[in-house]
Formats: sequence, structure tokens, C-alpha cells
Amino acid sequence: MLTVNAYAATSATGPLTPTTIERRDLGPHDVLIDITFSGICHSDIHTARSEWGATNYPIVVGHEIAGVVREVGAEVTKFAAGDRVGVGCMVDSCRECDNCRKGLEQYCLNGNVGTYGAVDRDGRPTQGGYAQAIVVTEDFVLRIPDGLALDVAAPLLCAGITTYSPLRHWGVGPGSRVAVIGLGGLGHMAVKLAHAMGAEVTVLSQSLKKQEDGLRLGADHYYATGDEETFAKLADSFDVILNTVSAKIDLDAYLGLLAVDGTLVNVGAPEEPLSVRAFSLIPARRSFAGSMIGGIAETQEMLDFCAEHGLGAEIEVIRAEQINEAYERVLASDVRYRFVIDASTF
Ligand SMILES: [Zn+2]
Ligand SMILES: [Zn+2]
Repeated sequence: MLTVNAYAATSATGPLTPTTIERRDLGPHDVLIDITFSGICHSDIHTARSEWGATNYPIVVGHEIAGVVREVGAEVTKFAAGDRVGVGCMVDSCRECDNCRKGLEQYCLNGNVGTYGAVDRDGRPTQGGYAQAIVVTEDFVLRIPDGLALDVAAPLLCAGITTYSPLRHWGVGPGSRVAVIGLGGLGHMAVKLAHAMGAEVTVLSQSLKKQEDGLRLGADHYYATGDEETFAKLADSFDVILNTVSAKIDLDAYLGLLAVDGTLVNVGAPEEPLSVRAFSLIPARRSFAGSMIGGIAETQEMLDFCAEHGLGAEIEVIRAEQINEAYERVLASDVRYRFVIDASTF
């Protein structure tokens, strides 16, 4: 066992505090990664606070992990010490079901093994990236290309793939008209990625507060959804709308912005059920869909795409002792656009 420093939540209401955790001994297919940077995702906060069901405490969250390989198991073939690598939202899956065989490990029919808060295949609870090091089976480790700095790469492992996968799945490319609802951690990556894919990109944000940023990040247009005229002006005009906000939205209003055959894809996860009128879909053969992260091969493709196009997340690097303050700022939407923890401070 390897004992490493980490930050853990010990209850739904208390702050995250310094602790140590044990990482398993290196199995033949395992990779030991010295973590360099760890992103803060909104899911970390939901889990740390038991907002998505009862969490088993103590828990170390974090699933936007970038680092360097320290050591590999005897039979590892894909990685060697010194390699720059990443780990995202899952660390294993059954590998045998139809979905796993298709490279859709995130939709594993037996449940993918989450990077934290899950039970690993050895029966031990998984602990995430707010730590100095992690041990992961080589098949769930991603290569971070040389052109990509580790700090801006970390958020790609969740925010990047969560937006890349639906853009690819729904065929976004040159000529596509894409709207992104919300310019936060996910939204800002969606704008960068859709722009790099050649789409015409529109941001739909509550206000025009972040307009300058949106345009700088690659958006062609920026509209305030607080302005009623926006919905009339943009009716029937998008092929894909990516909803990145977790707040409850007026689905019918947004569906009205889709062109014929357009799809509104939800990647944000509101707690309350959403309602939709059938006639928001029928008259223009519209679809309402969901999407969750991406498979391992697609995540590698996304990292390579980002390196090729010089894309990384917009980040603010913090020290471990600032995590609790950072959580409050995430909840207040006071971050442009992702906090990344310097893992040397754990
Ligand atoms: Zn996440
Ligand atoms: Zn499976």
C-alpha cells in the first residue's frame, strides 16, 4: 500500500480537510500516477455534500486528473515512467457487455466504476483526484499529448469530454449551427470545441455579463436569455443545442430554437424533473437527448484534438487549502472557468 496526502469530505455539511489515504499495490496492469493538477467539477461538490444520494464518508472526490507516471505494473504495455497522463470520470468497467465492446464504457451495462464514490473491481471504495497520487488500470489511463500543458488539460478529462462527445455524436462540423446554454466550466469548453470543429457558435446566457469572454473563446454570437426577444429572434435556427446548466430551464422555449431535425442535448443535470410539450418536438421533428462523458477511445481522441487545435480549459490554479472557498465560488458562478488544484499542495 502507498499512503498519500489527500483532501477529503467527512460529512455532508463539513469542509473538506487534509487527510491521508491508501492506494493499492501496483497490480500487473496498473499505473501509479503522481498527480500534478486536479480540476474541481460541480459533480465533486454534489457528491461531497450527498446531494446525489447518500455518500459514504470519508470521500476524496476529483475526476479531472492530470499527472506523470511514476511506476507501471509488470505487464503494462501502454505507459512508462515519465509519461504525461490523465484520468477522468471512470477507472474501470466490466469490459464485456455490448456497450463496453463498442467503446462506450461510460454506458457499461454493469455500471462503470466511477473515479470516486464507487466500488472498484477489487471491492474497495474508489477515491478520486484530490490527492498526491492514484493507481489506475492502464486501460483507463489517457495520454496527454506534449502540446497540452497539464494544468489546462486536467478539466478536459470531464468538462472537455462531456461536451466533445455529444458534439461529435450529433455530427457537428463546418456549417453546423450550435448553441451552448450556459458559459461555465462545461459551456466554455463547448464553445471552444464547437468553434474548432468549424461550427457557427452561439452562446445563450442569462445576461450579457460574459459576452466579451464568449466571443474571445470562439462564439460568433451571444444572446441573453433574460431578454424575451431572444427566443423570437432565434426561433428555428440551430441544429444542436447543448444545455450545460443544472438549473431547471423552460425546455419548450429552448426546443423552439431548434431547426428541423435539430437536437437539444442535456449534459447538465437538474435535480427536478423537466417537462416538455409534445408539440415542441413534433412540428419540426426535433429531439431531446442526454449524453454522459465519453468512452476511453473517444476521450483520447478529444485530448489529441485539443492538442492539435491548441485548446485547453481557462483555469484558475489554487492551493489545496483554498478548496472550500473555491466550492463557494463555483456555486456563485464566480470562476472563469475552472478551478484547478496544484497537487503539490495536498
Ligand atoms: Zn465532472
Ligand atoms: Zn460493460
